[in-house]
Amino acid sequence: MQLRIRMLLSVFAICSALTCCASQAQEQVDFDTYFQDQALRFEFFLFGKKSESKVVQGPVVQESSWPGPRKQLVFPFPYGKNAVRVYDQASDKLIYSYGFDTLLSEYATTPPAAQGKWRSVPISVRIPKPKARFRIEILERLKDNRWATLWSEEIKTSDRGILRESADQRGAVFELHKTGEPKDRLDLVFLAEGYTASEQEKFQADAQRMTQFMFEHEPFRKHRARMNVVGVFRDSYESGVDEPDKRVYRNSALNASFNSLGIDRYLLTEDGHALKRYAAQVPYDTIVVLVNSKRYGGGAICLDYCVTTVDDPRSEAVFLHEFAHSLAYLADEYIGAVTYSDLYPEGVEPVEPNITRELDRENIKWRPLLSQEVPLPTPKDFSGQSQGQAPVVGAFEGGGYLRTGMYRPQRSCAMGDGLEPFQFCVVCQEAIERMIEYYAPSQSE
Ligand SMILES: [Zn+2]
Repeated sequence: MQLRIRMLLSVFAICSALTCCASQAQEQVDFDTYFQDQALRFEFFLFGKKSESKVVQGPVVQESSWPGPRKQLVFPFPYGKNAVRVYDQASDKLIYSYGFDTLLSEYATTPPAAQGKWRSVPISVRIPKPKARFRIEILERLKDNRWATLWSEEIKTSDRGILRESADQRGAVFELHKTGEPKDRLDLVFLAEGYTASEQEKFQADAQRMTQFMFEHEPFRKHRARMNVVGVFRDSYESGVDEPDKRVYRNSALNASFNSLGIDRYLLTEDGHALKRYAAQVPYDTIVVLVNSKRYGGGAICLDYCVTTVDDPRSEAVFLHEFAHSLAYLADEYIGAVTYSDLYPEGVEPVEPNITRELDRENIKWRPLLSQEVPLPTPKDFSGQSQGQAPVVGAFEGGGYLRTGMYRPQRSCAMGDGLEPFQFCVVCQEAIERMIEYYAPSQSE
């Protein structure tokens, strides 16, 4: 029941806990030496229960271009409960990696998983297409931080089994913000979910409203020239999405549903195959699903995609909060009323950039941003040498749903209770900026 209680108390969906990890080799890889300007999308089924998971491979699809990073091909962040790694077969050199989460790691903490019930999660993983024969691996992070290889395959790039069909172009595409080539930009795609054919204009207006809200807030405002934003509309047969707790069921394009994992406001689209086929119509780095609903809700699978409704008064704030989870692996900074020791195990430093258990000022992860002479932990009412408007950066107790033993950088943040007015703390802003830099390196501008 712990997960259920936590989710009910939390305002939004979560990135589950991570443990620290040894960072991967940082030697950089030259894109043109090893890759073609194409993407390969691998469809998998993950099967899991508590403490056990499996990967089964589905189709491999070639996409027209690789819009993702070309400079930092080995993932520079410690994020993700799973990872994909690609090795050049001849040299055994690691040439690409990326971390990601799936719904399965959350499911693994639920009572049915503990009772031994398996469930499957369809996921899609994209990599740039290597020039030569390669090995691809899917890994899983274990509790003690070691990585376990769940699946590994050698692949010949000329393999006729790689599907070279055209992407489905049936959707209507709206360019909302265009600043450059997708390979040099962070490309956000909004996908329409639960809009009927007659609601196309509404989707366009909703996507415009979300885009505007994003660019009104830092750090997106100052980096707007490094982003492209596009909307793709496909009509749903019925308006709205499933709300099983109300016995409401709708036939929608992506089968999104409230009550994911049995939690009221947890809204996800669990079909990772359909999601990525839909998005493949345009070049994208990150997906936001806009759900045509008045109900309050949203969700994020970190480093994969996020979902939000559009017609609740708080929908814009929910969108940007969820997007910060899925884009930059930020943790929730708010506090649940109970302790969830299974989520952030005691004595383990979470890898999320905006919460910490560390109170040593030399080692705290946001050390360069600490206010001068700020005590750690930082008392709630500490005003220190705050020069006018600059809010104190320290270590305020409470974060990651925990009341004690976990610390957040500033008193208020949009990943916590700082939704009105909406503002990310400086640590969250910097984490988002690092992710923008990953997708859209500044020298490309
Ligand atoms: Zn923050």
